[in-house]
Amino acid sequence: MARLNILEFPDPRLRKIASPITDVTGKIATLADDMLETMYAAPGIGLAASQVNVHQRLIVVDVSDEKNAPVVLINPQIVSTDGERAAEEGCLSIPGFYEQVTRPATIEVAAINRAGDPFTLVAEDMLAVCIQHEMDHLEGRLFVDYISNAKRQMIRKKLIKQQRQQA
Ligand code: ZN
Repeated sequence: MARLNILEFPDPRLRKIASPITDVTGKIATLADDMLETMYAAPGIGLAASQVNVHQRLIVVDVSDEKNAPVVLINPQIVSTDGERAAEEGCLSIPGFYEQVTRPATIEVAAINRAGDPFTLVAEDMLAVCIQHEMDHLEGRLFVDYISNAKRQMIRKKLIKQQRQQA
């Protein structure tokens, strides 16, 4: 397994729309494993392939306290939603910033697993937030798109400054 480099906002590659995965090959399974390793190391609770500069429809999440409940979702699609809930979100691509985002509270998702088999999952609470956040990445959408333009520009400026200092 290998740790992957995570793109940071405002990198324009985070705005690419991911393509569907037509065949769950060993390469895709390895990518899922590498993404899980990268997510756990960060540490984070979710990661989309878009964030590691692979523009294919694959996300990984694990919201368990023990970090022993990884879920791999390939070509995830929201089948139904229920309710609404505001929760604080952060993002490995926007380190150090957290904002409230309102999303459906419960979702039913259809996806393909790491073995290539279709499954559906009903998610609520943190898992629902996390899956929706990661699915947004596949559309080139970030949690800062839900907040005010002024706040987003402030975060953008601070991150650019931080990235320059690191370079
Ligand atoms: Zn994110």
